[in-house]
Parts: sequence; C-alpha cells; structure tokens
Amino acid sequence: MAAAGVFGKLSVDDRREAARLEALEPLDLLDSPRDEGFERIVRLIKQVFAVDIGLVSLIDAHRQWYKACSGLAAGEVPREDTFCRYVVDSEQAMVVEDATRDPRFSDHPAVTGETHIRFYAGMPLKTKEGHVIGTVCAIDRKPRSFASEDRAVLQELAGVAMDRIELLQSAATDGLTEALTRRAFKQEADQLIALALRHQHHVSCIVLDVDHFKQVNDTYGHAVGDEVLKAVAATCKATLRAGDLFGRLGGEEFAILLPYVDRDGALAVAEKVRTAILSKEIGGDHGALRVTASLGVSALSLVGKDIETLLAQADAAMYHAKHNGRNRCVSWSSLQADSASSRRRVLKAGSIIFNDRRSTIDCTVQSLGADGAGLCVSNAMGIPPEFVLSIRSEGFETNCQIIAHDRQHLEVSFRPQ
Ligand code: GH3
Ligand code: MG
Ligand code: MG
Repeated sequence: MAAAGVFGKLSVDDRREAARLEALEPLDLLDSPRDEGFERIVRLIKQVFAVDIGLVSLIDAHRQWYKACSGLAAGEVPREDTFCRYVVDSEQAMVVEDATRDPRFSDHPAVTGETHIRFYAGMPLKTKEGHVIGTVCAIDRKPRSFASEDRAVLQELAGVAMDRIELLQSAATDGLTEALTRRAFKQEADQLIALALRHQHHVSCIVLDVDHFKQVNDTYGHAVGDEVLKAVAATCKATLRAGDLFGRLGGEEFAILLPYVDRDGALAVAEKVRTAILSKEIGGDHGALRVTASLGVSALSLVGKDIETLLAQADAAMYHAKHNGRNRCVSWSSLQADSASSRRRVLKAGSIIFNDRRSTIDCTVQSLGADGAGLCVSNAMGIPPEFVLSIRSEGFETNCQIIAHDRQHLEVSFRPQ
C-alpha cells in the first residue's frame, strides 16, 4: 500500500475491535432499509417495560446506527456520545437506573439537555462467535429500577433481534421494492462475474442514489417516500434487461449489474436510467412528484474482479456525481489516471488527524485502495481539505486530500508523504 507508515503493535482492544468490525461487515446491516421485524421489537420494548424509548442498534467504528428506534428522532449518533459504547466495550449488559447519579453520565448532554434521559438498560447484540455488533435497549425519561426478570426479558428480546438478523441473511428480495437484497445481489453478482471471467466477457456495475431523498420524506412523509422508492425501483427495472441484476443496497441506494456490457455501454445504460427516473411523474394524493438520482459506473478490470471492488468503485464515482451537482452519471475510469488502481469495500476503524495532530475525528473506512479511500463520518463539517488518515488495524498512516464529500462521506486521495 502506498505511503504507509507502520507504527507500534496493536493492543488487545484494537485487535478485538478489528475482529468485531470484521464480524459486522458481512452481515451488511448498516444503513440497510427499515424492517418491520425490528420495528416490532422496539415497540415491544416500549410496551413490556413501559418506557419512552426502544432501540435496536448497530455500532461501527465511529457511530451508533439505529436499525430500529421508537421514541427518539435521530437515526445515528457519534459513538463517543453513546451510552451503548460501554456495552460494546465491556461485552456485558449495562443498567443505569438514574443517570443523574452515575458519574459516567450525569454531565452527558442527553441527560442534562432536552432528551432528558434518566434510565438506560442495554443488552449486547452478540453473534454466535461472541462479537458484540450492537445493542438492544430500553430507555426512559424517569429513573426506574430493573429487576432480574426484566433483564431476562430484555435478553430474550436481544435474542429475537439476533435471530431476525440471521433470518435476514437468507432473504432474497426487499419487501418494499422487490429488488434483490444487498446480500442476494452480491451473491448472484459474484456468480455472474465468475462466469464472465471464465468466458472472458464484460461485466459492469452501476450504483444509484436518489438525490435529496431526505427532503421527500421531510416534506411529504415516510409513506410517500416509500412510494417514491417503489417508483424509482420500478422505473429502473423497466429500463433494464431481464438478465440484469437489480438490488437495493440501502435506504435509497440501488445497484445494477450488467452482464456482457463494457464500461462505455454501462455509462449509456446509466444515462438511460437517469433520464427515465427524471422523466417519471410519481402520482398520488401528494400531487405529481419528480426525483433525480446520481449514478456511478464501474467495470470488470484486471484489478477489479469481484463485486466488492466493483461496488466500491461505482460508489466512489457516485459520490463524485453528487459532489458535482447531482442528477448525473460518472464513470470510475474517468476518475483514474492510473487504470491499474483498485478499491475494495471494507469496514475498518480510522482516525482523521489534523490541526498539527491536535484534533482527531473517528471515522469508518468504507472502501480502501492503494491511492484513495471512502470514509464515513458523523459530520463532515469542519474537516479541513487535507489531513492525516490513520487506520490502526492496518498499521497505516498517510496524508490525504478530500476530492469529494457530502454530509457524511469523504472521498479522499492519498498524497505522497
Ligand atoms: P443526497 O442527495 O446527498 O443523497 O441526499 P439524501 O437526502 O438523499 O441523502 P441522506 O442520506 O441524507 O438521506 C437519505 C434518507 O433516506 C434518510 C432516511 O431516513 C431515508 N430512508 C432510508 N430508508 C428509507 C425507507 O425505506 N423509506 C423511506 N421513506 N425513507 C428511507
Ligand atoms: Mg440520497
Ligand atoms: Mg444515500
């Protein structure tokens, strides 16, 4: 890897954290669509314990992301600000009966501020191998006690959530849009790629993200947002051939795999899909609505021979499309002067270091190549255009320059030291 500086040995905690993230990554749950099974669990938590807030969450390198949440507005919070990080770090359940009396939390803004948290009970969400990937929590705005029977019930519910996670691993299609699930898409894509490599034909990949989709939800409500997603998926499918794969990667993000299509052909398909979405009038009680999408394109190459690489490259190209005004298509190859460079999807803990090493921000490294990376942060505001990226589990530290970003994503290229 270019410009890597190796430093000291990894601590036991660093290694445990790297293994935890490695267990979380293949489950493909982060930023995945809303699921009624988890919604039911958080409703049950509220009912059974008569509390204000129920949560099922996953915790990556830099944030706690709510897979399902009832009673709180946020969708995610920086990891360092969470109660749940204690559950992940200790791998044990934690009960705080009155946060104002607990020195760890009495000054916490969620306790002193409007959210007014008093009671917290969190159970680890543990894989069969014992990695804590998240939490299942009951939270209240009044202090309360939590008897051992209550603990047992919450533990049961954490078990139900883990069962649901395992069950979802076998689901092939997404309930809302009927697109393939992320996992099923990747499995089928890998088979098509293996075939293409054997028979030496082209395969290309498109990642599509609906523009300003949050505004649709905020303006018209979640139900209309769902209708828009269905319409976008239907428009894509109607534009594609029967042999193409179409999957839902996350909330408003979709992927397409095109067998027998090279990168120029894929860019033409992406343009066709972009125009079809733009032209589609989505009707309903809300009146006629139109949305646009940003698309990134990648193709099989000597170094990009698996779906993780194709997705990471198309994803990086998609962020360039966002950065350059949205409602457009960008090809990964057009970004790369050196066509040998590659990129893989990963899930690793990183630190963004700047201000003469006085400031550090945690990030999750989502894709990594020899000359660049895709990073996810809680808030990209305030991060300077150039900084040092450290990935401890890789023994890696390098200077970086931001080449594209949105609210929570940074695309960076590595600079020579
Ligand atoms: P950008 O143009 O940068 O992509 O902006 P955006 O608003 O599309 O992106 P952002 O990631 O900020 O917001 C995506 C929103 O999609 C937030 C989330 O609540 C919503 N969402 C995710 N899954 C679903 C779903 O299944 N249904 C609905 N209605 N909304 C969803
Ligand atoms: Mg979007
Ligand atoms: Mg998105």
